Amino acid sequence: MQQPVNEPTFRQSVDVMFNRAVALMDLPPGLEQKIRVCNATYTVRFGVRLRGKIETFTGYRSVHSEHMEPVKGGIRFALSVNQDEVEALAALMTYKCALVEAPFGGSKGGLCVNPRDYDDHEMELITRRFAYELIKRDLIHPAQNVPAPDMGTGEREMAWIADQYQRMNTTDINGRACVTGKPLNNGGIHGRVEATGRGVQYALREFFRESADMEAAGMKGSLDGKRVIVQGLGNVGYHAAKFLSEDDGALITGIIEHDGALYSDTGLDVEAVRAWILGHGGVKDYPDASHTAEGAKVLEHDCDILIPAALEGVINLENAERIKAPLIIEAANGPITAGADEVLNAKGTVIIPDMYANAGGVTVSYFEWVKNLSHIRFGRMQRRQEEARHELIVRELERLDRHLGDAWSMTPNFKQKYLRGADELELVRSGLDDTMRIAYQSMREVWHGRSDVSDLRTAAYLVAIDRVASSYRAKGL
Ligand code: GLU
Repeated sequence: MQQPVNEPTFRQSVDVMFNRAVALMDLPPGLEQKIRVCNATYTVRFGVRLRGKIETFTGYRSVHSEHMEPVKGGIRFALSVNQDEVEALAALMTYKCALVEAPFGGSKGGLCVNPRDYDDHEMELITRRFAYELIKRDLIHPAQNVPAPDMGTGEREMAWIADQYQRMNTTDINGRACVTGKPLNNGGIHGRVEATGRGVQYALREFFRESADMEAAGMKGSLDGKRVIVQGLGNVGYHAAKFLSEDDGALITGIIEHDGALYSDTGLDVEAVRAWILGHGGVKDYPDASHTAEGAKVLEHDCDILIPAALEGVINLENAERIKAPLIIEAANGPITAGADEVLNAKGTVIIPDMYANAGGVTVSYFEWVKNLSHIRFGRMQRRQEEARHELIVRELERLDRHLGDAWSMTPNFKQKYLRGADELELVRSGLDDTMRIAYQSMREVWHGRSDVSDLRTAAYLVAIDRVASSYRAKGL
């Protein structure tokens, strides 16, 4: 669904939200302006010979803020990519990284291309050529600008980009750190693919640990049995829906896709729907649920939690008033326009904002970048040592067990569970969980602590802008 024409563009929408927050701060006007604007956007048009003729492609890499380097942010492949969108997304990256304390500035890239129009080999030629254009201008570089996956890109594209960088910089020992979201066998990290969806789960868990926050959304209890509608079953939406239903007992009562939506009061089987989409190209004709061709209408269905995990601007002035969910968590970037944000806030809807909700991706990207720079897998040095120490305790407990006879015995499986040292995936999840909890608390403190802040988004902007400002101040600006 497209945003109505009478609303500001995506970038203007981000600026409106920024301005709303900055009005509550005491920043020197020059600094405020410095933080808001995008530092630079590079546009490139390049040709690739495909099927006997030369096709021209347009791509962008925008750098919003270099208060910390490298700057970080994904590369999107879609026909709708444009400069305004790339700049809005780059700005969100700056605030997102600041909020979750990933030591990066903000950047974003995009290429106007529909990946479905080309075969694998053609996509490789296009991606490598785009990467070449960016690499030769240091717009892909382990110390300066580190892309990652976004809509329309994934491990495959990241592997091509990393290889392209390494071919052009054969002596750079840190070459692999030029991009994150790579496949495991190419310098990637366990848990990166699931990271954004996992982060959405951890964000919701943290929200549900705070009874006052639940009350603000008129909710009680836990995630168990809560009715969830997800828009977009791509990488982020799929993992969020899967984890929330499998681990937390949430009911996925609606799934909205490009060809309509499925809904079921008793809950949809996320794996089965995903398999159907992969096999049939959409949700239409899925046998075990009701289907409507008017997908966007399902955003307005009664539910407890709405998770927009697709495009920007899907909740706008046209439909905001009709959205019934008391809690919205923005798994996508910018799914709610600035106008809709005001309407929803006035209605009392609680919105967990994008810059926090979908920060799981860049958080695990940060871990991958550190892993690449340290040239060693997380846990490699300490895992067996940890196991050896656990073994000591288990042996003592076994001695006690024998000594006490029937009076006491170890819980079944305890030994097995306790003995195992943490592997990389567990460490990544633990680091992600910690990050999401701490960032939530920093937003929440402002939300509840300041009488002039009534929503989580403004709170998130305040925390993020304050950190970026301190960083500029420390540099003497
Ligand atoms: N594209 C993702 C985002 O919007 C991930 C960025 C990254 O990992 O650098 O946050």
